[in-house]
Amino acid sequence: MKTIQLRFQRSFFLRQGFVGGMQIFFCIVIMMLMRHGGLLVKFAPVIFVGPWLAIVLREYLISARQVDDEGVTRNDGKRFLWSDLRRINEVKMIIAGQHTGPVNHVDIVFKNGSVRILLAVLQNGIEAWQFVMGKKKTLEASAPPPPAAASSTPAAAPPAAATGPKCGTCGELGDYHRGFQKGGDEANNTFLPAASDKLKTIKVIDPNVRPTQSLQQCAECGAWFLHETSYEYLVYGSEDEQTLSRITEEKAKALLNG
Ligand SMILES: [Zn+2]
Repeated sequence: MKTIQLRFQRSFFLRQGFVGGMQIFFCIVIMMLMRHGGLLVKFAPVIFVGPWLAIVLREYLISARQVDDEGVTRNDGKRFLWSDLRRINEVKMIIAGQHTGPVNHVDIVFKNGSVRILLAVLQNGIEAWQFVMGKKKTLEASAPPPPAAASSTPAAAPPAAATGPKCGTCGELGDYHRGFQKGGDEANNTFLPAASDKLKTIKVIDPNVRPTQSLQQCAECGAWFLHETSYEYLVYGSEDEQTLSRITEEKAKALLNG
């Protein structure tokens, strides 16, 4: 069995140690300046260092410790199996406010929770990422083709004559879908339907405009979609949003040529 143990880079600990040290230093300075401040001063360490500690600790606990053939183990000991994999979200860094940079971390979403791989601060993050993407491909290849079963049952429920049979790739997609994820609020996160991953990106409308819009097409039936995605880094839980809208061929052609 292939197993990858994830190791943090030394610079990660140095940076966190530095940030932590600075906070503690300012905290001490403030407490010395306000020696007679009473009760409020006693809470200064909690107010200053608490939130930072909570974020770093949480980020650490939900990140992956081990990736292997069967699944992923988080630093908090929770284990997730590939058979429960729902989707993989790549979250890119934002440089200068609007340009998206290299991938910062990858969230592997399972039926019962998610695991983060902090690529930028791991010694072997890229190796783990490649392993995960390989695993995803294998899973997709071995998944049974869902619509094939219909042919074996003699037309029990004939499809509506006007629309014809549903497309096997994009048939389950409606006119509009929205996914929204907030860090620290995993229980309420929503995602675009899995079928949206199978659409082909034909054109990124303008990489400098946010939210990023891309024109996507179903390779099977040629239906067009407009995919929009935005990511906002917030200290108390970053926000990710994706929308997917079915669009007419005319609108798609206009976007393609525009
Ligand atoms: Zn289709």
